Amino acid sequence: MNEDNNKQKDKNNYNIYYLIAAIVLLLAILVVAVFMISQSKSKDENTIAYTDLIKQVDENNIEKVEMKVGSTTVKVKIKGEEKEKTAIVPSTQAFVELIQDKKLQGNQIELIQKERSVFVTIFDYLFSLLPTILIVILFVFLLKMQGLGDKGKVYDAETTKSKIKFDDVAGLDEEKSEMIEIVDFLKNPKKFYEMGAKIPRGVLLCGKPGTGKTLIAKAIAGEANVPFISMSGSEFIEMFAGLGASRVRKLFEKAKKIAPCIIFIDEIDAIGSRRTSGSGAETENNQTLNQLLVEMDGFDTEETIIVLAATNRPEMLDKALLRPGRFDRQINIALPDMHGREEILKIHAKDKKLEDDVDLKDIAGDTAGFSGAELANILNEAAIIATIKRHEKITQDDIENAIKKVTVGLERQSRVISDKDKKLTAFHEAGHAIVSSQLETQKDIKEVSIIPRGIAGGYTMYKTNEDKYYISKTEMEEKLVALLGGRAAEKIALNDISTGASNDIEVATQIAKDMITKYGMSDNLGPISIDTEKDPYELQLLGEKFGDAVGAEIKIMLDNSYLKAQTILANNMDKLNKLAGVLIEKEVISAEEFQEVIK
Ligand code: ADP
Ligand code: ZN
Repeated sequence: MNEDNNKQKDKNNYNIYYLIAAIVLLLAILVVAVFMISQSKSKDENTIAYTDLIKQVDENNIEKVEMKVGSTTVKVKIKGEEKEKTAIVPSTQAFVELIQDKKLQGNQIELIQKERSVFVTIFDYLFSLLPTILIVILFVFLLKMQGLGDKGKVYDAETTKSKIKFDDVAGLDEEKSEMIEIVDFLKNPKKFYEMGAKIPRGVLLCGKPGTGKTLIAKAIAGEANVPFISMSGSEFIEMFAGLGASRVRKLFEKAKKIAPCIIFIDEIDAIGSRRTSGSGAETENNQTLNQLLVEMDGFDTEETIIVLAATNRPEMLDKALLRPGRFDRQINIALPDMHGREEILKIHAKDKKLEDDVDLKDIAGDTAGFSGAELANILNEAAIIATIKRHEKITQDDIENAIKKVTVGLERQSRVISDKDKKLTAFHEAGHAIVSSQLETQKDIKEVSIIPRGIAGGYTMYKTNEDKYYISKTEMEEKLVALLGGRAAEKIALNDISTGASNDIEVATQIAKDMITKYGMSDNLGPISIDTEKDPYELQLLGEKFGDAVGAEIKIMLDNSYLKAQTILANNMDKLNKLAGVLIEKEVISAEEFQEVIK
């Protein structure tokens, strides 16, 4: 983890250097520009137009003419004037002849013709080029800052010696025990070869972001004490066509040089999505994927390289990737359960100062559905909150605040809320809470608040004590009703609706969609799964009528839920009004206070 930080720092440093360089350049250009403008200005006062010059010559007013060979700029001294003036002449030759004519006519004109020094010529030339040079340099810097220059470094995939061990990975005991054989193999490949054993060359780690896929890959490298080469799938396909495949080649070349080692490809779905016969970006993608397949097939039996790849969407991958000899082993990494969360919290609490009464088990109970990365983040946020509040150590309260900050956003004390908004939010949240209290699966309310956090004007928080592996249809249906309770309350109590419910409605619509197209929970359509993201033609296959039916089902489900929420509120108007009143007064109420109000 420290290595990551350092890398990040390095990157930040680079960016700062580029920024400073760019600013210096900009200033330089500015200075040059100002200089040139001032030059042209001072010229203005002391210049004389060519026509005027000719006139002065005609009127015999010229005392002295000074010119340089090869330059069209001439200096003239006009009778009765203090300063010399400069003029640009279209043709020096013609001008010299004109002056010499005048001299022949008997005018006293001093004509000086100077040789130009080579130095001055070169300087003039360079000076005229300066702005162009500066602009080119600035352009290059800008490109670098945009990361185009950086990509050169990516050719050299990141190689690190990982110090992370299995002990740094909490939970995931089964996964770790599966990985032990890979560690063994990396440490002592000969033993396996002699036995005639085949070790998987490619392992696919599947799981949501932040579940520790990278961490476990690093831990394998750390345990086996081999280098860890990592690259992200998206890096292969960025920017230039045809580069992806060559990057894959270089990556494996490098790995072969330093084997035994681990190659880690993050977001492999970026290159490994199903091959298509399309054009442009897709063909590019196909080339990269083909190269990856070639490289994995081309492993010598003696080469001790293990390729680990991470993805959140294994179903998107091209089947060819999953064939024997390639990524033929899949390890699913689930979100941590209650015990896993406690273990993860313990690991990340190690390097932090915690108050003795902090109960990590309790925190684990409050964070169902959180990933390892989110849990790590919460403890970090808690440390920041504790520092700002000048606590000696991190308190339970700090951690709970951190959870709220991460889930609903930061409390915004500074925002001034109008009474009208406050009333609206109070009825909206009260609506969620009262509707929830009448639904068996939703009634465990932890806190109701109308203090704005993040983008939310208020929130109703539920207790999440147990880890559920399955969610029932009833629960999902009731969740829909609870979500729409906010909008229903606005309508019933204030006879007006607001934009405050937009997120509720978005979430509700997603749930309804999932129920019907993912979990087969519609009575009408039966158990069927339609994933148009996976296969855009799936709905076409099922026919237009079926598509219409799906849409109708989703709509009916949402309409019914909204109606149900309105009905519940209509039957509990007194509670709704009472709770909204308490919220306007107190702004936040706890579970106990809530029970008190609705008793
Ligand atoms: P992924 O690669 O799955 O997106 P990462 O491995 O990058 O997730 O996890 C990000 C961070 O989250 C890790 O660096 C670590 O701090 C923390 N983390 C995730 N899972 C665990 C775990 N099981 N044990 C300890 N820390 C974890
Ligand atoms: Zn709401």
